[in-house]
Amino acid sequence: MAAELGASVALRDLEKSYDRVAAVAGVSLDIRSGEFLTLLGPSGSGKTTTLMMIAGFETPTGGDIAIDGTSVVGMPPYRRNIGMVFQNYALFPHLTVAENIGFPLKQRGVSKEDRARLVGEALELVHLPGYGGRYPRQLSGGQQQRVALARAIVFKPRLLLMDEPLGALDKQLRENLQLEMRRLHADLGITFIYVTHDQEEALTMSDRIAVMNDGLVAQVGRPEDLYDRPSNRFVASFIGESNFLPAIVRALEDNDVVVAECQGALIRAVCPSRPAAGDKVMLTTRPERLRFTDGAWNSSTPQNRLSVTVTEAVFAGERCRYMLQAGDGTAVVLKEPSSAAIRRRAVGEQAEIAWSVADTILV
Ligand code: ADP
Ligand code: MG
Repeated sequence: MAAELGASVALRDLEKSYDRVAAVAGVSLDIRSGEFLTLLGPSGSGKTTTLMMIAGFETPTGGDIAIDGTSVVGMPPYRRNIGMVFQNYALFPHLTVAENIGFPLKQRGVSKEDRARLVGEALELVHLPGYGGRYPRQLSGGQQQRVALARAIVFKPRLLLMDEPLGALDKQLRENLQLEMRRLHADLGITFIYVTHDQEEALTMSDRIAVMNDGLVAQVGRPEDLYDRPSNRFVASFIGESNFLPAIVRALEDNDVVVAECQGALIRAVCPSRPAAGDKVMLTTRPERLRFTDGAWNSSTPQNRLSVTVTEAVFAGERCRYMLQAGDGTAVVLKEPSSAAIRRRAVGEQAEIAWSVADTILV
């Protein structure tokens, strides 16, 4: 097998402004050959505009896009040979499934015989063999999106772009198709650039995620990197749930550890950058990384501790979710597994919580 089935894509200071308003405000990103990369961000963060510039449907107002090391700015979309799937299937209603899928092949002058074979293969890949004679209106939403996917890969592009392709489907179907797309990505070995505003979808599917905010990349990394080591407040709050504790830097230790004063306690946090003593900072930690100590906490790893009052206690099936209040009123969320062996806390109860230094990030 060829090692380089997928295209590499390099974005350099990429910009797109409309009437001096920047939809994309300087994005630099290297997407590797064969990678499943997701652009994740809230509505209006510039995801679609970025994708459209890669596809060639929008022209950048600044910066560069290189595919396999060659700049494609100015190259028309059809010459870029990129597959695309949109949220609204965009199938031709008057063409059969086979004719829809065969359309890009016809455009490229592929013979009727080869078209039939390639369409058949594409239908197999998306689990719709035998559906070639139907019309789009005779298919469910999920099936229509599979046809759109087949049409996007039938001409064997080295790069597939998808803009919220599962956005119109219900949750169950969406989850099934997420797994299928991962499998398809592994089978094809080509590069996928996927756009979604759904953080769970991004975490489930991607090799790496570029989190976008206000036309910029806020952080890029593997799902676990973004979750465990958010590099700023936006990423910490957009991906998963986070607690934020205001603190003041008191000392710097070795191994990227900062000691900060927080609610009268000294809290240790991981921080690759080096703030100065006296700096006002924000500490962040995930609700499921916190535990009640019951006064006696046996742990070999260094722990942070804080005294709190329980203000809300909710049993939510697999987990119990507690709202806690620290000394100065800061709200803290704690989630723990709902084992029958773990004592439930009552509203008004005083408690001590603890969590590891490695799970405390300075943002
Ligand atoms: P996303 O896909 O992340 O929701 P978009 O890339 O569609 O974001 O849009 C980013 C920003 O650019 C938004 O504020 C949007 O209103 C603006 N924008 C997008 N397209 C146009 C356009 N054709 N004209 C003017 N503004 C646009
Ligand atoms: Mg969009």
